[in-house]
Amino acid sequence: MKVTRRDLLVWSAGAAAGLMVTPVPWKLLDDTSIWSQNWPWIPQPARGPVEVKMSACTLCPNGCGTKVKMAAGWPVGVAGVDTHPISRGTLCPLGFGAHQLNWHPRRLRTVRHGGRASTWNDARTAFAKASSEGPVVIIDGYPGRAASSVLQSFVQKQKGEYRVVLGPEMRALAPYEEWSGVPASALGYDLENTQTIVSFGAPLLDGWGPPGRFTRMWAEHAAGADDPRLRLIQVDASLSRTAGRAWQWVPILAGSESALAAGLAGVLLEEHLVSAHGPIPTLPLAEASTQTGLSTDAIRQLARTIVARTPAVAIAADNSPEIAALNVLLGSVGARGGIVRKSKQAEAYIPADLPFANARAVLLDASAPWDFIPQTNAEVFRFAAWDGGSDRTDWLLPAPGFLEELTDVPTAPTVALETYAIAPSLVKAPHEVHSSAEFLGSLDPSLPTTEKMIQLRCVDIFRGHAGTLRGEEDTPIAKLASAQTLEEQLSKGAVWVSDDSHAATLRCDLKQWPTAVPAAPPESWSSAWHAPVLPSLATKLYRESILREAPEKRFV
Ligand code: SF4
Repeated sequence: MKVTRRDLLVWSAGAAAGLMVTPVPWKLLDDTSIWSQNWPWIPQPARGPVEVKMSACTLCPNGCGTKVKMAAGWPVGVAGVDTHPISRGTLCPLGFGAHQLNWHPRRLRTVRHGGRASTWNDARTAFAKASSEGPVVIIDGYPGRAASSVLQSFVQKQKGEYRVVLGPEMRALAPYEEWSGVPASALGYDLENTQTIVSFGAPLLDGWGPPGRFTRMWAEHAAGADDPRLRLIQVDASLSRTAGRAWQWVPILAGSESALAAGLAGVLLEEHLVSAHGPIPTLPLAEASTQTGLSTDAIRQLARTIVARTPAVAIAADNSPEIAALNVLLGSVGARGGIVRKSKQAEAYIPADLPFANARAVLLDASAPWDFIPQTNAEVFRFAAWDGGSDRTDWLLPAPGFLEELTDVPTAPTVALETYAIAPSLVKAPHEVHSSAEFLGSLDPSLPTTEKMIQLRCVDIFRGHAGTLRGEEDTPIAKLASAQTLEEQLSKGAVWVSDDSHAATLRCDLKQWPTAVPAAPPESWSSAWHAPVLPSLATKLYRESILREAPEKRFV
């Protein structure tokens, strides 16, 4: 069974909505829990004291808050944390069954080289030799962590390159980075203060960003209302789940999103519906109408509807300069309810899929999606906790599984405020595992450790005296006694949330309407990526849930 990243998020979005309105999912979970205890590869937990530990899911960059039920020191259940400021009690099925993953038959237990068993010593020797002979490229799928800083320190010393596998949400923010100079990783959508969202195919209710964020917001402010406080207009070629539940579905011909953005911009300027003076698109309204399949009147009416309730923001499904330019025209960039700057310290990343010139070795952190295969002749060292299937990796290195290492949780993509959390190591791996940061540290002891970088980040937040520690109670950072107290609280499940975004420090000056770029291929790694393995709980849910069924209706 192949389950994509989007499937998982679609499913969690559906589940989140379902849990709020019907008891059926509870019954399904109950049956599943009983059933999945009988999977042969899941050991029966030892008898012993039961306790609940607070943590965060680190299986993807959304970093949802988790409560982990432990029996005799073993995790036996995972649930969401209602007080978590971003995920708000919601988990996707992968996180929900994550405690089962460490026992999965496809767990990597030994080092492999060219498909044969090898040793950590051989891997160290091979990597040391490769890095002494030429540049190393390191690929990270979860940037901004303490471990990411260790990887970056290594390549800086070695004159190699650090690259990041960017998700579609991050790629959609790339035009603002290009026009403002502010890295996309520092940007987010201030949806909490938006009144109208025009989504150009972005799956806001099908799995976009942290699963609990928009689905909860939509349920509270919009679901079922004729004239909701939050209007979601879904521009989509097919009746997706988001389109089906949105306030308005605007069906257009597939691949014509850029033309619609240009058509809308033309109407906004011609009818003086916006105060911003932006560049005029060269595409005539009649041509936008032909390309989108919408009448010119429908495009005019849509433009008026968008500005009827502001702040309004347009969200692209992927990198689209035309949709970003529409936001500039709407005055939504660097404004409340629009695209905001959440951090002053973020950095710009080199995308992982650019060609690899002269690399002697490529090291993939365990956070890089399994389906990301570097197109290179360099020697490839891949860290992974689970074997996702065959690829052309030279070295396969067992990485820590769920809850087996200390890590931190930086801000999730798309959110508007900076956050920081810590996921402590709660269990010991049953065999020798190393993270890529630890591996590099064993080769170069002068590198900082992940622990050290987490401590430094806590000192940084503490000295900033800004933001709030959100846990069972909210505590302003200014009232904490020390950085150590902050670190202790974060390790117990609290989350630091910054005070406000730096909206005013984001400016995009656009001199001319962007030229159309070819749309992203329909299947990039983000939609084709499949989870290397699934916990049995998720497998059962996935097989039995009707939520996996894709809608059929399509506008042609
Ligand atoms: S969305 Fe990501 S962080 Fe959240 S529960 Fe799922 S895998 Fe974990």
